[in-house]
Amino acid sequence: MKRTEGVCIIVGAGHAGAQLAFSLRREGWVGAILLIGEEPGLPYQRPPLSKAALKAAGTIQVPLIYSAAAYEKAAITRMPDVRVVALDRPRKRALLANGQALAYDKLALCTGARARELALPCRALAGVHDLRTAADARAISAEVRPGGRAVILGAGYIGLETAAALRGLGMQVTVLEQGGRVLERVAAPETSAHFERLHAANGVDIRKHVQARELLGTGHIAQVLCSDGTLLAADLVVRGIGVVPNMTLAQEAGLAVGDGILVDEFAQTSDPDIVAAGDCAFHPNALLGFSLRLESIPNAVEQAKSAAASICGERKAYCAIPWFWSDQYDNHLQIAGLNRGHDRVVVQAGDSDEALTVWYIKDERVLAADCINSPKQFVRAKKLVASRAPVVEL
Ligand code: NAP
Repeated sequence: MKRTEGVCIIVGAGHAGAQLAFSLRREGWVGAILLIGEEPGLPYQRPPLSKAALKAAGTIQVPLIYSAAAYEKAAITRMPDVRVVALDRPRKRALLANGQALAYDKLALCTGARARELALPCRALAGVHDLRTAADARAISAEVRPGGRAVILGAGYIGLETAAALRGLGMQVTVLEQGGRVLERVAAPETSAHFERLHAANGVDIRKHVQARELLGTGHIAQVLCSDGTLLAADLVVRGIGVVPNMTLAQEAGLAVGDGILVDEFAQTSDPDIVAAGDCAFHPNALLGFSLRLESIPNAVEQAKSAAASICGERKAYCAIPWFWSDQYDNHLQIAGLNRGHDRVVVQAGDSDEALTVWYIKDERVLAADCINSPKQFVRAKKLVASRAPVVEL
């Protein structure tokens, strides 16, 4: 039954939360919408944080997801700088850090993910940063000095994008990766090799099978002791060692959780009045044939649309082929699908030395693709992956 009245509280004002608020209005919700976020200001776009925003040093203007006027026009009440500390599900209330309790009819958890903590016996030192929020990007930017030495922990998206940005700002950059290659979690060895060559050509020192053992300094980071015994001088350390879903609120409220808040294809949690979307939600994907949690903007946006429909009593299943992108120097990586379970790869050179597509094949059908500097191939890849095209079509 269509439902459009009452109070909907959205916890989390990132990409999923902001999208959900506007999608609710598009679905016809006429009741109140409260968008609660811990960070100050308006919801902003996160992808530029490890790219253009860092390079803008000192003058960071992170692009907004929607303008202040758009929230006003849609009558969405923003509550920045506010932390929800608990949910009282029997009485349908969200409890805030300031002691206030807000009643809801429907609630959406868009709590996202937080940077994984470094399990090191070390003091809190200035100059050691995560890169997840605009405040993190500003703090890193403030410490950038041409010729300064940056040590980056982790060679995933954050580590490599930050390495490229800091090189562009004239820093000396070393990246420590505990695995055997960069982007190991998300891409093929051929893709990793391309980006390792690219970073080496730009003067980044990538050390594989190496972790930080200790961060040393008096008040401010000065050195990183590595697991291979090397001591690196450091003026700045950036951690990019992955994220963990924010699901404590859900867990403590007794909702079903696993590697994230468990939802169905309609973003519905185990409570009929609570949905969840974005990095925090573990969901089924019929196209892939398994359940998963995704850390990506397209996932946050599309799942939030399903969640908004569910709140209004509509059934719009979220089912999409995942895709991702990364910009490093002037190279552009676009990934269609998930390479999980492939049995071989097919590598196709592109129309320039820097262009390459790696196709992942399973049972002679296209499963996923890494497209490097090949935007046209990416458009093709999305279609071939979605239709599980036979390999002969490549
Ligand atoms: P990530 O992609 O999971 O990469 C983290 C890397 O750090 C992995 O290779 C990991 O190895 C390694 N690592 C873990 N612990 C380490 C340690 N102690 N020392 C050295 N290396 C270590 O995570 P991320 O780069 O931090 O990115 C965070 C989130 O932001 C992700 O959700 C990512 O998708 C998102 N993001 C996306 C983009 C994009 O789409 N362009 C850009 C930026 C950020 P193991 O795999 O062995 O753990």
